[in-house]
Amino acid sequence: MRFLLHPSIRAGTHGRALSSAFGLQMTRRDLLTHANRSRRREETFARPVQIKVEALREPRNGEKEIVNAFFDDVIVIGRSAEGSSIALPACRCQQQRLRGNSCIHEFRQNLSTSLHNSALEACVDSCTEQRTAETPHAKTFSGLAGPQSGEPGYTSTQRLQQLPSHRSGGHSPPGRRGGSSFAREVSTFSNTNTPSTSAVTVHVRMPTQEQVEIVIVGAGPTGLGAARRLLQFNKASWLVVDASPEAGGVGTTDVTPEGFLFDAGTHALFSHYKYFDEVLDEALPNPEDWYTHQRASYVHSRQALVPCPYENNLAALPIEDQVVCLRGMIDAYLESALAQSKPNNFDEWILRMTGEGIANYFMRPYNFKFWAVPTTMMQWEWIGDRAAGPDLKLAVTNVLEKNIAVDLGRYGKFRFPARDGIGGIWKAVTKIFPQGKIRFDAKVEKIDAKEKVLTLKDGSTIAYEKLISTLPVDDLAVTIGDEDLIELSKGLHFSSTHVVGIGIRGKRPDHIDENSWLYFPEDDTPFCHATVFSDLSPHNQPGADVKLRTIRRADGEETDAETEKGGPYWSLLFEVSESSHRPVDVETVVADSIRGAVDASLLAPEDEIVSTFHRRFHRGYPTPTLSRDGILKELLPKLQALGVWSRGRFGSWKCEAGNQDHSFMLGVECVDRIVYGSPELTLLYPNLVNSRDNCERTLAHKFDEDGQRIFD
Ligand SMILES: Cc1cc2nc3c(=O)[nH]c(=O)nc-3n(C[C@H](O)[C@H](O)[C@H](O)COP(=O)(O)OP(=O)(O)OC[C@H]3O[C@@H](n4cnc5c(N)ncnc54)[C@H](O)[C@@H]3O)c2cc1C
Repeated sequence: MRFLLHPSIRAGTHGRALSSAFGLQMTRRDLLTHANRSRRREETFARPVQIKVEALREPRNGEKEIVNAFFDDVIVIGRSAEGSSIALPACRCQQQRLRGNSCIHEFRQNLSTSLHNSALEACVDSCTEQRTAETPHAKTFSGLAGPQSGEPGYTSTQRLQQLPSHRSGGHSPPGRRGGSSFAREVSTFSNTNTPSTSAVTVHVRMPTQEQVEIVIVGAGPTGLGAARRLLQFNKASWLVVDASPEAGGVGTTDVTPEGFLFDAGTHALFSHYKYFDEVLDEALPNPEDWYTHQRASYVHSRQALVPCPYENNLAALPIEDQVVCLRGMIDAYLESALAQSKPNNFDEWILRMTGEGIANYFMRPYNFKFWAVPTTMMQWEWIGDRAAGPDLKLAVTNVLEKNIAVDLGRYGKFRFPARDGIGGIWKAVTKIFPQGKIRFDAKVEKIDAKEKVLTLKDGSTIAYEKLISTLPVDDLAVTIGDEDLIELSKGLHFSSTHVVGIGIRGKRPDHIDENSWLYFPEDDTPFCHATVFSDLSPHNQPGADVKLRTIRRADGEETDAETEKGGPYWSLLFEVSESSHRPVDVETVVADSIRGAVDASLLAPEDEIVSTFHRRFHRGYPTPTLSRDGILKELLPKLQALGVWSRGRFGSWKCEAGNQDHSFMLGVECVDRIVYGSPELTLLYPNLVNSRDNCERTLAHKFDEDGQRIFD
């Protein structure tokens, strides 16, 4: 089915009149630009679409008439030089007669409230009711005697008749009416009691196209950061569209049927930015909204739990391993002192920094388990301040004095939302925005970067001046359909992540410290790290009074799976990385994780497991491969030349700037760049922003008409 837009109407007198009625305030130049764009554009509906028609009919005896109709599964049945015709499966029109200006006023109100969910806004040129017997279209709608779904000859048109109607009686759904007076006075346009025997053909004269200056694709942390900054500036028209039914993107939290919460992996909320902190406080302003935790990090290595940083706590290892590690550190110290060149890859960097002992016991196997690629395939520049170079004197002293020195620097303390997990943060941030500025269930299917128009999955289009995309940049290239960009982005690499959660009856065992983050370099566990998720908030698991059945014992032995018993409960969250270099068996990953937890003494064999959770994130971590930076240096400017700013965890593909705070600020800084031309430090110099407190931006700043800052 094809649907042709008719640009001539837009540029003509009628188009201008309608534009003004719609409150779009388009200039003649705008209209001509759109006309030219539309002339070259056809939209294809591969299947029946949902349509909402809210239309102003021609004046009649000094009166104007509003037709307001909601229809599901509309079929486009024809097009001509004057316009296109759409056939409606059943007529549920509402009609009202109003005079002069009040009509336009009502219509405009109606239109603005309807814009959020409409697949297509159309001006109805004429609207004729047709009885079944009179038209072939109507016959099609009532042709139930023909082949049924799945049978040869079955058409989607036929399906229309079989669909249950959820909008009956000519009434629009709650919240979509233009105003109460309008709602009160509606009258039924046709016989809605017998929709199967009537159909209406509407001749569409002018579909309106939404237009914004900045459109943001994706309501994850990056998109929300961009939106928050635009809301603060109040300088440009903007809109966020997201394919999902809610905001947050990967910053999401699942709840098991038994009532355990699990985030999309271990989402430690470390912040490098004042602005980010302020927005979180704006969204969740009360002290009781948050818990602040001191992290306890250990590496499960050589049958011991070695506190982080590993190299400063070698005293926790068996004595023979301490010797191996210290000898390696001394060799590495001498070698790097004499080195004439930079390391060629991450593996060489590891050897130079830590030596063979620590490399083989911890750094190489852990990084392979985490990134799911060999360390020789990775660059070292991404690491920045995440791992400071080891202090040989301190390492030797601590071994000789049997010291344990725990210092995680800025990554020691973090906060966590009291309720609803990480996903709760982003739901709260969403509430900051005026209604309608974030549109959900709005997947972007196509971006015409030359014409600056994007098409949503329902067929509607949005014209924009600038586009901030938070899609994975390789998906973005496909959505734009540019072969050069597609080819270029093929060189980027990523891992997938399996998140496995376990709810356990009882309490966290005493030998595991509170707020433990445990790293597992060795092959005896499938997971690379584990968190005691129940420590982060008491609301992450059901209360002790909730009675649950035992699903299985940790060691898999027979157990009473029928009797419901009370708590208390605690939980563990694991991450398992997957790639072509490191395949994961989806069928056994939960059982393997439980077995690994028993082997690592996180669980006792007799522990009762009351809830399990597994979710695979196709996009887990963007891999810092050797070729990554070269590709990004070419790819991002090429996109920018098309008016597309690709930012975010996978939008700009930098793991070192891929946490929630970074992602949010990538969005904020991108808006600053677009509006004021300021440099994007997080994108360009991630290691710089990671090494300092970034306090330059604040929500407290307001801007006057000329863009000058006003300080409160
Ligand atoms: C396993 C794992 C562990 C993590 N650990 C941490 C951590 O410890 N600390 C931390 O701070 N961060 C962590 N993160 C990172 C954090 O989740 C990201 O920073 C953040 O979610 C990335 O935000 P984003 O907006 O760039 O992308 P996303 O969150 O992926 O958001 C992209 C949005 O785009 C939408 N979208 C996609 N395609 C379309 C389309 N065609 N049309 C319209 N919308 C579309 C999606 O629905 C989504 O809402 C982790 C992430 C993962 C996966």
